[in-house]
Amino acid sequence: MTVLSGPSGVGKSTVVAHMRKEHPEVWLSVSATTRRPRPGERDGVHYFFVDDGEFDKLIANGELLEWAEFAGNRYGTPREAVMDRLGAGEPVLLEIDLQGARQIRESMPEAQLVFLAPPSWEELVRRLTGRGTEAPEVIERRLEAARTELAAESEFDTTLVNTSVQDVSHELLALMRVA
Ligand code: 5GP
Repeated sequence: MTVLSGPSGVGKSTVVAHMRKEHPEVWLSVSATTRRPRPGERDGVHYFFVDDGEFDKLIANGELLEWAEFAGNRYGTPREAVMDRLGAGEPVLLEIDLQGARQIRESMPEAQLVFLAPPSWEELVRRLTGRGTEAPEVIERRLEAARTELAAESEFDTTLVNTSVQDVSHELLALMRVA
């Protein structure tokens, strides 16, 4: 099992999307979230979009492998689908925040933790500001989180620097031993 984590805006989902275009057989866990869908995001594809009550139930029923609150919303990894894939001996990829990665480290010490780092802090600010989908106060919260998150790199097994989506995607595949 491989966990890709890193600061918000570093380009985790872009890397994963690129990788899956070339290797659709790589299974990616679909998280549950209380965040509202962004334009173009589809329920069950990008996330399972749930309300607070539904998320509470997922937690109470032990259905989440890990979960975290991030910038005012909750996100969690549905346990069963991951366990099914692992049981079948298939590669599993999680794309989650740092708090989630720490929980996985605790509960599944054999998991491979990969940190995606921005080429520079300036580049990260540019990406977070330039996304154009979030309100200024939301961007500010995400920058705040990113400052703390960058310091966590040392907790990870491997760091990939996101200079080129294509290169990082190939490096990730190599780490997963898919290609
Ligand atoms: P976004 O709102 O931009 O889609 O995601 C915000 C952050 O939540 C990103 O860092 C993303 O990796 C993280 N995230 C997405 N799904 C999960 C999850 O299931 N668990 C955890 N802990 N973080 C997640």
